[in-house]
Amino acid sequence: MTTRTKNNTVSEIADFLKTLDRVAVTTHVGADGDAIGASAALVRLMHKRGAEAVFCHGEAVPSYLSWLLPDEVLTNLPPGYDLLVADTSRADRTGVPVPESGARVNIDHHEDNPLYAEYNLVTPTAAATAEIVADLYAALGVPIDRPTAEALYVGIKTDTGGFNFRNISPRAHELVADLLRAGVVPAEVNERINRRGSVEQLRIVGVSLANAVQYGEVLISTVETSDYERTGATEVESKESIDQLRTVSGVDVVAHLREVPHGTKGSLRSETVDVGEVARHFGGGGHRLAAGYTTPRRPNEAREELLEVLEGVVDLGGER
Ligand code: AMP
Ligand code: MN
Ligand code: MN
Repeated sequence: MTTRTKNNTVSEIADFLKTLDRVAVTTHVGADGDAIGASAALVRLMHKRGAEAVFCHGEAVPSYLSWLLPDEVLTNLPPGYDLLVADTSRADRTGVPVPESGARVNIDHHEDNPLYAEYNLVTPTAAATAEIVADLYAALGVPIDRPTAEALYVGIKTDTGGFNFRNISPRAHELVADLLRAGVVPAEVNERINRRGSVEQLRIVGVSLANAVQYGEVLISTVETSDYERTGATEVESKESIDQLRTVSGVDVVAHLREVPHGTKGSLRSETVDVGEVARHFGGGGHRLAAGYTTPRRPNEAREELLEVLEGVVDLGGER
């Protein structure tokens, strides 16, 4: 394998995609709207180019996103298929293991992406990987049909917190205008992705909000296994609280720490602090203002461990 570990241009990637005739697309574990939206659009792009294209992911796709994908989702990489990875900052976070020969293409917008594939298209200024996939449609002269537009729209909408985060740009809004012209009806997409909750989810979000503790400019919420048991919700449903945690005035860093089978999954968000750097302290990573990690500690100890790292970074209000 020739690992080039360099970033390629849109036209270089477009030219390379033209040479592939059997591709499997995957994305990061814990797939979100951009992961699935960008992947679905990439599968459709390769189909339209006349290639055989499948989506593969070892984990179950969240039901609020599965309508974007083709009916058949493979749980393993089929032999003889070239692997294209979307929205995934590291090769050890892919939904199916990367084969020995490596991933062929890595399309992403995480600034800490180490360019792990043979061909890499990593654009940190893109609001979402979906925005980069839209560039590939343009470069290959493939028109964006309505299902593709919906997939791309979901990617941009979810990764920008509904067009609110600092990553949103005029360019992303211009693309969204084109997606609406291609048939996206925002209210319908909203109905499909945001009005899918359950009472159990509502309750775990309530618990997560009730458990929030403020330390100066930092707000930390912890959720434990006993909380899942008493609400009947799953751990990942508790993360839905994170945007509400961000509404507290004077808070700059928000952490959501939820118990998982072998420790705690941390989700960090900020307006100004480089929380990607904080997540890397614990072996995680992500964007500057939205990052995550997993630690072997239980939530209470995970909170202390996090506060120690934040100590020199942000005002903890003299609480500790
Ligand atoms: P999350 O808090 O899980 O929504 O993740 C926020 C961002 O951080 C996403 O872009 C993830 O891809 C990234 N991220 C989350 N967990 C990890 C991890 N363990 N290692 C590297 N990046 C991560
Ligand atoms: Mn993602
Ligand atoms: Mn993304």
